[in-house]
Amino acid sequence: MVYFKNKMMSIISRFHFTKFFIFLFILLVNMKLNAQDKIFVVTTTSIFKDMIEQLGKNHVLVHSIVPTGSDPHLYEAKPDDVQICKNADLIMINGLHLEVWIEKLIKNSAAKAPVFLLTNHIKPVKTGKYPDPHAWMSASNGIIYAKNIAKAIITINPDLKQVIHSNLEKYIDSLQKLNTYIETEIQKIPESQKILITNHDAFRYYGQCYNLKLIPLMGVSTEGEPRTSDIIKIIEVIRQNRVPAIFVETSINPQQMTQIAADMHISIGGSLFSDSLGESNSSAGTYLGMLKTNTDMIVRALYVNTSNQNTKVKIQAFNEIIFISLFLIFLLITTWVFTIKLVNK
Ligand SMILES: [Zn+2]
Repeated sequence: MVYFKNKMMSIISRFHFTKFFIFLFILLVNMKLNAQDKIFVVTTTSIFKDMIEQLGKNHVLVHSIVPTGSDPHLYEAKPDDVQICKNADLIMINGLHLEVWIEKLIKNSAAKAPVFLLTNHIKPVKTGKYPDPHAWMSASNGIIYAKNIAKAIITINPDLKQVIHSNLEKYIDSLQKLNTYIETEIQKIPESQKILITNHDAFRYYGQCYNLKLIPLMGVSTEGEPRTSDIIKIIEVIRQNRVPAIFVETSINPQQMTQIAADMHISIGGSLFSDSLGESNSSAGTYLGMLKTNTDMIVRALYVNTSNQNTKVKIQAFNEIIFISLFLIFLLITTWVFTIKLVNK
């Protein structure tokens, strides 16, 4: 009986074992086929990764070399990056001196994939020695990025032309709606308060497109330390314009800005997203979400705070008028009483 039971168990386990291996084999073959179907795109930041995924959908497999939340200016390539670049079907970079390390990485990896510039047809803003690389910061430039991505994917696989064009049309529509939203929201801020003070010079395209004056603590790159003259300049601007809030950025150390805010007794308006998206489950987890989150944060800090501040100032002025009026009435009554007493004598 025991022998029979053991024999049965052995047949069953062998049967499961064989079934498991057949299942694993089918899974691996499927995965390989799926991976082969997809274009393996390597890009440099989480922002571009999202844009490429929105356009390529299930036809692309995208990898961002710089992880979410990290600084692309100061990134140092890892040994794994060499292999990843080597396996790429397509490499898409921002250029304009954002990824100063990418040229060496591509060379070391001996990658055969074509390298596409996401900033093709974008008119770069000059800032001293180098152009400003943060061209993705306006939704209108985002449309140019999207067109460049669509063109690159179609170059790799012309069969995808129709589906990519359809995705592009929908994405451009969302970007146009977002552009209008940002314009409308920024207009709410009073002209004198349209001053955006940030960690580094990443909002020039945003400011130019949506009419905001920019005062960054550091230049377009995050390399080096802020100069004392820049700190003094920011303090002066805050004082002269009664700026209600300044901003830190998610991928940069906030210490200097926090110190300035504390010294000037003003608030930190929020942590803006400039060189990286937020976590995937957050409101800034996509490129569209990131621009909207930044805008809401800016408007809340510069418009709502200003309105509250103005209301406080009005209440204070009203209280002062009431106090002065009461004092005058008291003075008048006292004088009157005193005069009557004097006359009656
Ligand atoms: Zn930057």
